[in-house]
Parts: sequence; C-alpha cells; structure tokens
Amino acid sequence: MPRVRTISGVPVAPGLAMAPAHVVQATPDVIPTWSIRGEEVESELERLQQALERVSNLLEKQRLKVAKSSSSQEAEIFSVHRMILQDPGALDRVRLRIREERLNAEACVQHLIEHLEATMSRLEGNSVRSYGADISDPWRLVIRELMKRDHDAFVSSDEQVVLAAEELTPFVVTYLDRSRVQAIVTERGGRFSHGAVLARSFGFPCVVGVPNLLSRLEQGLRMIVDGDAGTIQLDPGQEEVDHFLSRHTRHVAKRDALVQHAALPAKTQDGTRFAVEVNIESVRDLDLGHFAVDHTDGVGLLRTEFMYMERAQFPSEEEQYRLYRRVVEHFAGRPVTIRTLDIGGDKQLPYFQTPKEVNPALGWRGLRVQLHWADLLRVQLRAALRASAHGPVRLMLPMVTSCEEVQAVHRIFSEVRSQLLDHGYEVAQDLPTGIMVEVPAALLTLPRILKEVDFISVGTNDLVQYLLAADRDNPWVSDLYDPYHPAVLWALCWAADCARQADTPSSVCGEMAGDYATALMLLGMGFSSVSVAPNFLSQVKYAIRSTTLEEVQTLAAEASEATSGDAVRKLLEDLRVRLHARQAGDQTASGVSEP
Ligand code: PEP
Ligand code: MG
Repeated sequence: MPRVRTISGVPVAPGLAMAPAHVVQATPDVIPTWSIRGEEVESELERLQQALERVSNLLEKQRLKVAKSSSSQEAEIFSVHRMILQDPGALDRVRLRIREERLNAEACVQHLIEHLEATMSRLEGNSVRSYGADISDPWRLVIRELMKRDHDAFVSSDEQVVLAAEELTPFVVTYLDRSRVQAIVTERGGRFSHGAVLARSFGFPCVVGVPNLLSRLEQGLRMIVDGDAGTIQLDPGQEEVDHFLSRHTRHVAKRDALVQHAALPAKTQDGTRFAVEVNIESVRDLDLGHFAVDHTDGVGLLRTEFMYMERAQFPSEEEQYRLYRRVVEHFAGRPVTIRTLDIGGDKQLPYFQTPKEVNPALGWRGLRVQLHWADLLRVQLRAALRASAHGPVRLMLPMVTSCEEVQAVHRIFSEVRSQLLDHGYEVAQDLPTGIMVEVPAALLTLPRILKEVDFISVGTNDLVQYLLAADRDNPWVSDLYDPYHPAVLWALCWAADCARQADTPSSVCGEMAGDYATALMLLGMGFSSVSVAPNFLSQVKYAIRSTTLEEVQTLAAEASEATSGDAVRKLLEDLRVRLHARQAGDQTASGVSEP
C-alpha cells in the first residue's frame, strides 16, 4: 500500500519542525505497536532474543531465591516458565510475525499471548483454562523487558524527536527532556486540554486529531510537522525537505525580528500601558532562554501542579520554597502569581489517588482538594509565604465557586502566616490574594467575591467549558467549545466591568489571551493585563504597540454586540489585516525588515 504522505489534523500549537518520530506509550498497560522497515527486521529479532535471555536469567535468579527461602517444589514453577520461553512453536510464531508482518517485537509477543489464551479457553475444564494465564505469564515478562529496555535506552540518548502518541496528555508532553522534543503529534486531544496548554507553553509545534496516526508510523520515521496548518508529512522526499528548510529559515527570522519588539514596553500608540505577563509551568522554563525576563511584566500564572507532577511524591515545604524562590528571584522584582495546586481531571499526581469520578471536570479538583486536605494547602502557603521574602508574590486560587471558599483560605492563610512569623521566618508584609474566575458561579457572584480579593484572573480554558457545557478535552464537542461564543464575550465584559467598578486589577490567563488579536479585544474590554505562554509574548506586545486605545475599545464594543462566534472571528481577522498592513508600513519607514 502506498504511504499516505501528508495527513491533516487539528493545529494546536504553532511552529515548524522536522525530526524522526518516537512513539510514546501513553499508559503502561497499553502495548505499543509500530511497523518496522525491512532492514530493521534482524535488529528487531536480536532485540527479542536479548529480552528472552534477560527474562530467562531473571527467572533462574527467582528460582534460586525461592528454593532457598521456601521449597524446591515451589521454585520449580520458574523452571517451567523458562521452558515455556524455549517452546520452538511459540518462538517461531513470534519471529515469523516480526519478519512477515514487520511489526515490533512487543506487538508480536502480545499477539502470541492472545493466541495462547484463546486456545486454552476453548479447552474443557477450569484448571486447564486457568493454565492459559500461566503459560502467558513469562511472555508478559518479555514484553515488560522489551518496553523497559527500549525506554531506558531511548531516554538516555540525546536524539531530537517528534513525539507521537494516541492522546495529548500532560504525561506525553513531559515524557522527555524539552530540549529533545521538536514537536508533538497525536491521534486525539482537545485544543484547550491541559496537554495542549503545556505544549504551547513549552513552544512545541503540535497537531492533534491525526486519524490512525500510530498505525501509519514507524519508530524513527522522519516527519515534518506544521503546527500552523495542522499537517504532518511522513517520510518526506528531498523536495519536501528543501521546502521545509527554506520555510523554517523564514520562520526563525520572523521570530527573531519579533523579539526586538518584545524588548519595548507594551504601550499603545496613544500612550496606554498594559501589562503583559507570562504563564509558567516549571522552573525549567526559566533555563530554556525562550523569553527574556525583562520583556515581561511578571508571571501572571505559575501552574504549580506541574512541579508536583514531575516528582515521585509530594514536594516538601522546603522543596516548594526553593522552587518558588527560584522563580521569584529570576523575575527580579516583577510580581509572580503562584496558583495553588490545581489537580484533578487530566492533571493527576502518580502518588495521590483521587476517587474515580464519572465526571471529573465537575468533580474533586482545584481548591476543593486543598480545602479537603488542608495540610496540602498549609504546606504550599508556607512555602509561598517564605518565597515572598525574596520578591513580590501573589497568591491565586483555582476553581473558586463561592466567597466562603475564599474566606476559608484567608483563615488558613492568617494562621500559617502567624506561625511563620512566630518561628522567626521573614515573609512579605503584603501578599495579594486573588482568584481564577473559571466557574460560572464565581463569575455571577463576582461583585461579592471582589470584596474578598486583591485581583482576579479569568481562566477562559475552564470558563468556556463550564459556560457552554462542552468538555475542553472532548473532541466530540470541540465544535461547541467556542471561546468567541456570545455568552463567553458577555461573561468576559461582565468580569472586566465588575473588576473596574471595584477598582481591582483584572487579567485573563486562559489560552485565548495568547492570540494577539484576541488579547487586544480583551484589553479593549477593560482588563488591565493578559498573561500568555512565553511563546506568544512578542506578538502580543507588538500588537499592543501597533494599535490605539480607541481602536481596541471599538473592537471590544463591536465584539460584545456580535451575535455569533463567527462574527467575532471576522472582526479579529479584519484587525489582523489592519495591524499587518500598519506594521509592514512602519518597518519600511524605519528600515526594519518585516517580521
Ligand atoms: C484556565 O482554566 O483558563 C486556566 C488558565 O487554567 P488551566 O488551563 O490550568 O485549567
Ligand atoms: Mg483552569
């Protein structure tokens, strides 16, 4: 069958990349399947052979151990397992499949296991049937060994790759060191899922919704990913590679030109200054050098859950303190907004079992978890307060639904603060506390909540899903998840108005703020700042510098009157065209080449 060369999916994070594919196994109990090339058959057989030998040695060790600690009769099962792995019929079956089907060894061993179990289940008698599980057991060890070695060898190499997976989850995005990931492509994933948020924040071009991706891929197959168009090209020929290289060069030049603008203040042409902050997920963001701290107005959202997710157990107070302090010192006097732990839904900690919920988005997540396990909150507050001795820190609460929740946090906060002071810790005099506006109840009762807080930030990623009853992770309702729906625009205007009337700073830190035209619309609505993934900082600042307060206010007024999401998109598109023409004119006049 001829290879399908260009496949379309849904663009999730912009950028261009070319690298060999690496298939990520999403959960440990899924056996990865991929095709191998003709010339890889021998090495795949060798990989199988080595795994068989390692399992055989392991079984022998087990046999000796059990023989010593219990009886030699019990130990004999391990000899039987070793013999099962030497069964010529079974071995031939696996090897033949590798040769003829050109599939990886794990998939072929799994096929054998299914065959053995099906054969046994057709036989008479319970004890014979249960023997089916027994004879497949040592083969499962072989799969485990194959997957372990493959992962270990791969993780310790330094090859640059495109990660390919079934689903775009935070696990997949954080699977490898960031310096090795060129792009991510998956079969499934929502544009506003946490995996997508992370991919954008890390600056990985990303395409989701690629049909049958994994069955079309071979491990190591070169591919080109276009995160703007939402396409991937498998096994590109020389012509496609040349085309990629010239586009890539232009892309890098454009990005570099934009960075010059990011160094200038985010001030409109008629002198209105807005704050543009960044969303940070990990202290590793600071080492990547993909943005300059003095081009930002601080951190509008520090998603602390990813620092928890990267560990094998809950980080201690001391660890958290060091991490927060690191960020605070890095931002040298600019405010850092530490959001308290927002786990639940697709953000799970491997060491913290949350209940299985039928509807996790409406379940036990965010602040709800920390008000239940208040010690988790106490430790985090202590760490944040201690970090506040090193620079301005703000505290932000996720998934707030009522004033009572905010008041409960205030009580814990005062208690923790007094304890720290009693023990001689230095903490800031003032630690502004705010909430994420992301649940409709908080939005509707905002005038009351504003009496309890020092700032608000609208989390549109969640607010949109809750307003429109359309799961941000569910591709079946992705058409309904529309950040420009009139209800969403009404909510945004309402939040900005409430904050302005209460004379309280307001921001938007959801993904939509990273789109420069949308950021202008939000600022026109009256938000005092936006917080965006570092990748979008330059574009947003450049857009602010290319407009006027009047223009953005007119845009916001027209958008809030629009009767459909499409009408808003049209307004934003018109704005983009105007800005582009203006920017091109400016550059010609100043002799700067067009970004
Ligand atoms: C949001 O909901 O918009 C937000 C910024 O938080 P998260 O994406 O982490 O849920
Ligand atoms: Mg949220």
